[in-house]
Amino acid sequence: MADYKPWTEWFKQVRKTIPYGASPYVYTQQDDLEYRKKQGLPPADVKYKQLKDHLQFGNEKLSENICIFNLGSALGCPSRKTGECQLDDPERCYALGSEKMYGSPYFYRERQKQLWKTISAEQFARHVGQAFKKKEEYAIRARSRPKPKPKLIIKGKKKKKKKRVPFNPDMPYLMRFDEAGDFSKQSDVKKMSKIADILKKDYGIRTYTYTAKSSLDYRKVSKNLTINRSNWTSKKQPKKGTNVFQAVVKPTSKYICPGTASRECGSKCMLCVGGGNKLIQVKKH
Ligand code: SF4
Repeated sequence: MADYKPWTEWFKQVRKTIPYGASPYVYTQQDDLEYRKKQGLPPADVKYKQLKDHLQFGNEKLSENICIFNLGSALGCPSRKTGECQLDDPERCYALGSEKMYGSPYFYRERQKQLWKTISAEQFARHVGQAFKKKEEYAIRARSRPKPKPKLIIKGKKKKKKKRVPFNPDMPYLMRFDEAGDFSKQSDVKKMSKIADILKKDYGIRTYTYTAKSSLDYRKVSKNLTINRSNWTSKKQPKKGTNVFQAVVKPTSKYICPGTASRECGSKCMLCVGGGNKLIQVKKH
């Protein structure tokens, strides 16, 4: 933990020097709540833009049809704190690596955590649905525009960058929780279930997540939320419709993850998205 202390100390120092409201990147939703409480103001509605700025559509490995939101940072991950982390050495967590290296992912995810704490399930689902609608409208408009002429590429001059898998209105829309972070308490599971129900019913969006929290009860999870339990250690029989996701040296299951680097995740491969009590294995590198 000592390695990351300077970041958190730095963060505290910066907050002292910047007046409240001067930077949305330093002050969080929680600060806003406390400020409003002190001023005798009612809690503010979490505006669409605030959440939208903390939703990520795709990344280098996942298609832009997948909206990603974290319940917190890897450094503050509840499973890391309780020893439920799936890794033999939690210091080797991939998400933690980027926080340690750049710092900014840590703050981004901590802000997401504050947003998660203060936003209601209904608001969250409504804003996510709206963000997808906007993306859809944009993609449909873009289809009717004439295609730009291809640029002249001089061979051997530039290294070809891998393109992201772009948003495609014909592919399923997915909500993925937790690239980093995990559930803290039972009410998080309940809240996510509610969000999954609204997203499915009102917008046709499917929701899935990964967790290492084996101490929580997943028996009442909505059928619209797929939970992928990483390296399950609990003796409790999980609810039917949730998967187990394992990283192993020699996969033996019939459900093998092609690896997110294959960029099939959420487009060609939907193993984690649909429930069904599957044992999904990925080969350890
Ligand atoms: S099994 Fe498929 S859906 Fe799950 S992480 Fe691997 S590629 Fe993605």
